[in-house]
Amino acid sequence: MSTNDVREVIVIGGACAGYTAALYAARANMRPLVIEGLNWGGQLMITSDVENYPGYPEGILGPEMMQDFRRQAERFGAEFVTDDATKVDFSERPFRVWIGDDEYRAETVIIATGANARQLGLESEKRLQGRGVSYCAVCDAAFFKDADIVVAGGGDSAMEEATFLAKFADKVSVVHRRDVFRASPIMVDRAESNDKVNFVLDSVVDEVLGDDRVSGVTVRNLKTDERTDLKAEGFFVAIGHDPNTELFRGQIDMDEAGYIVTKGKSTETSIPGVFAAGDVQDHVYRQAVTAAGSGCMAALDAERWLAAERGRLNDALAAPRS
Ligand code: NAP
Repeated sequence: MSTNDVREVIVIGGACAGYTAALYAARANMRPLVIEGLNWGGQLMITSDVENYPGYPEGILGPEMMQDFRRQAERFGAEFVTDDATKVDFSERPFRVWIGDDEYRAETVIIATGANARQLGLESEKRLQGRGVSYCAVCDAAFFKDADIVVAGGGDSAMEEATFLAKFADKVSVVHRRDVFRASPIMVDRAESNDKVNFVLDSVVDEVLGDDRVSGVTVRNLKTDERTDLKAEGFFVAIGHDPNTELFRGQIDMDEAGYIVTKGKSTETSIPGVFAAGDVQDHVYRQAVTAAGSGCMAALDAERWLAAERGRLNDALAAPRS
């Protein structure tokens, strides 16, 4: 199916950044179409309580918050397609986005496809997500006051999370699969000099223990094959993130880790008229509130860009011919 209808804006991705962009674009009468993805809601769908999003003093469940975001955008006229975009063409305007054989066209596009925290891939890890298994220390550390915690990973994130978690927890064990760290020496020093942090090296987490909540993890030493159970109320997986940018590869500038590059303080990408917001372009802050903020920026950037483009076109049409 191809439609002659050219939208002012298509938002690709339905989570904090995408829904906020849609809310602002809808209120600016841009009639946004949100291709929200089959897994709309993003990383908040594997979070339980969100206590750090302003405006929810009692906290809110991640999935509930995403429904609120979606409903608010819908209230002002945003339309949704609950499917994954499968192809884009940004080489000419209007831009084109496909879902299978269905083609959608728009004068501007906002990319808000987010990033995924890497998972170990254990069945027990999946089952206990939001019940002691977490992928974000800043979000969840406060739930683990005086607890024993295990962190998996050996990069800067693992060091940073271990040091941060030690402010709340009694004991933090960092399990890393090698005996050298990928993390920068200064981050390792900081974690190592913290009395509450200890290291379990050359080891991996084989199993997360617990029925309804995490009660520990089984750690396997890769050199001896010995297995040990560590008691823990929290298990933080800090093995990196992957931005969801496969769809745009070769069409738009990305950094070496695959994050979309945006210009200065704006959400502009290397293609005029295409904007990016949220974790797909931010590997530093990665918070719901910062993603929402950049979604708002992207809608404003798109609206202003379109107004300027139309102004240029009108000026060109009005100019006397020589
Ligand atoms: P990363 O640098 O890719 O490190 C991932 C770590 O997880 C590595 O130690 C890796 O082990 C381990 N790992 C990966 N897959 C695993 C698996 N399946 N099982 C067990 N362990 C696994 O990711 P990151 O730490 O999130 O950092 C990403 C980027 O952000 C880096 O450029 C980092 O410098 C930056 N960052 C900076 C700061 C800061 O400066 N404050 C804080 C956080 C992140 P191997 O080492 O064996 O591969």
